[in-house]
Amino acid sequence: MVGLLLQHYDWILDQNREITDAEREAWAARQREYYAQHRRQEIARHLAWKAAHPEKVITYDETRRQRIQETDDGTATLVAIARLKAKATNCAYCGSRLLRKETDHMTPVCLGGEHTLWNIVIVCPDCNLRKAKLPYAKWIERAEPQHRGWVATLWEERYGHLALESLLLPYPGARLAMQCM
Ligand SMILES: [Zn+2]
Repeated sequence: MVGLLLQHYDWILDQNREITDAEREAWAARQREYYAQHRRQEIARHLAWKAAHPEKVITYDETRRQRIQETDDGTATLVAIARLKAKATNCAYCGSRLLRKETDHMTPVCLGGEHTLWNIVIVCPDCNLRKAKLPYAKWIERAEPQHRGWVATLWEERYGHLALESLLLPYPGARLAMQCM
């Protein structure tokens, strides 16, 4: 269902016409509603798919590992990430107090994101799940409206120099070698 919604959204984008704010918000609201109602099923479906396709999981993991190695600029060491985690008190995406701390590549590695401290943030498990492996333009629409300010500010700090249209692409400088599962 989410896939269908995203496909339809892509189709609208492909028509190369201006999308009205009302249309955008309607799609975003439907996505959030679907996500809220089906989160557990979606996770279960994903896990079942992984269990049924072990060879694809191995290939994906290997490609991801390579991608991380290729883009690692030496800043995202285990120690540096542990320090970030130790310092973080609130989720970078929603601002809620962190009970469990997770690491997230803001631009997902499978979308060409890099394994650098610049691309890494400490977030709550709920935000991490909600964001999944979406490019910014889709992720910002899935974010709860009251959290969008946090997400947008963080994105602006890290990637604000990029052209707006590039936000619809996975990552402008991406040497895209893999797909998200
Ligand atoms: Zn959060």
